[in-house]
Amino acid sequence: MDKLVSLAKRRGFVFQSSEVYGGLGSVWDYGPLGVALKRNIKDRWWHSLVQARDDIEGLDAAILMHPRVWEASGHVAGFADPMVDCRACKARFRADKLTDARCPQKPSKVPGEHTTCDLTAPRQFNLMFKTFMGPMEETASVVYLRPETAQGIYVNYLNVLNSSRQKIPFGIAQIGKAFRNEITPGNFIFRTREFEQMEMQFFVKPGTDDEWFEQWRVIRMAWHQGLGLDRARLRWHQHAAGELAHYAKAAYDIEYEFPFGWQEIEGVHNRTDFDLSRHQEHSGKKLEYFEPASNERYLPYVVETSAGADRVMLAVMADAYREETVADELRVVMGFAPHVAPIKAAVLPLMKKDGQPELALELYHDLRAKLPAFYDDGGAIGRRYRRQDEIGTPWCITIDHDTASQRSVTIRHRDSMAQDRVGLDQVKGWLMERLG
Ligand code: ATP
Repeated sequence: MDKLVSLAKRRGFVFQSSEVYGGLGSVWDYGPLGVALKRNIKDRWWHSLVQARDDIEGLDAAILMHPRVWEASGHVAGFADPMVDCRACKARFRADKLTDARCPQKPSKVPGEHTTCDLTAPRQFNLMFKTFMGPMEETASVVYLRPETAQGIYVNYLNVLNSSRQKIPFGIAQIGKAFRNEITPGNFIFRTREFEQMEMQFFVKPGTDDEWFEQWRVIRMAWHQGLGLDRARLRWHQHAAGELAHYAKAAYDIEYEFPFGWQEIEGVHNRTDFDLSRHQEHSGKKLEYFEPASNERYLPYVVETSAGADRVMLAVMADAYREETVADELRVVMGFAPHVAPIKAAVLPLMKKDGQPELALELYHDLRAKLPAFYDDGGAIGRRYRRQDEIGTPWCITIDHDTASQRSVTIRHRDSMAQDRVGLDQVKGWLMERLG
């Protein structure tokens, strides 16, 4: 993890928020390559759900919502983690994440230095960030930063249904920021206080929910595998009865084996009609669906797929990182699948003379119109290749002394380091073909 965090900073994937002021706890900024990588992941998600299917619509609901939404959803009363403090060493942690009833800092054997655990009783700590709407900082003007994007979908489900002419079963997908005042954030961008969710809520007829739940599990696992993640590092974790959230009838997490262990990257939940019935009750508005074919009215059940864009990106980065020794030198490679790599191709003139930079720039500008490309003419070619390996660029295109006369270039493959000779006017097609 230390190597990954340092590469992320050095090469412009992720920076600490407000670093010049010493950073802000577990809040991160995405640099030029990080924003490109995360966008590629989000675009793939959106494409697979919204663009490639007829039965899912997109939505972008506001972060701020009516405060009664969070009363209805159960978040005001129940979105809390049990927090425990150690009076001896001042550590604070989640009681439900402890393996035994001892302070995680472990008492020291040195006399006078925290030799005993002195734990407080667990207290429920609500994870929602509060702020005020309008000029008065009073109870009546409290609003929350949403802790999940799902509620924006539930309260809009009839709007989407009526305006899109969808029929049940159908889904609504949304990508957006969510905020949780986590007690123990950490592991870089794994658990943060501000993060992005990619959530899809699928509305189905009660009685068909188990079947849809199974279908969505299959689709979602395949999506993660399609990102190029190592299949051996992906697994399912089924929530046992005691672990299930208040709204869930069944829940499975997709877990990835991070350097710090197996952890959730996405949850697939059968939320029943819990949310819609609560919003119906609290708003006083009928949220039932009328099914013309059967003349029935019912509240749909919801199968939810909820992934964190930041967590998935961390999984993609951890999975891609590798070190190799080549000719007694360390080669660090981010082996991203080409479709998620932030930069697809680098154009490198071998020498800064004989018209090579001009030819290289012409190719670079031509490629850039179609795909994220990079131009680099500084330093030894071997070092330039290493720089591209480290940011995961799948192909380096080298313009050399034969390019002008033969109208051809070499294309170096990041993983095998093998080189192909390709006609200059075929480079774009060659790349596009491999990017699908
Ligand atoms: P955890 O048990 O790890 O706190 P959760 O079960 O509360 O997670 P969900 O409420 O199911 O998580 O949220 C769905 C997804 O949102 C998670 O699978 C994760 O990818 C992402 N997510 C949740 N909390 C955070 C966070 N604090 N930072 C980054 N991503 C998060």
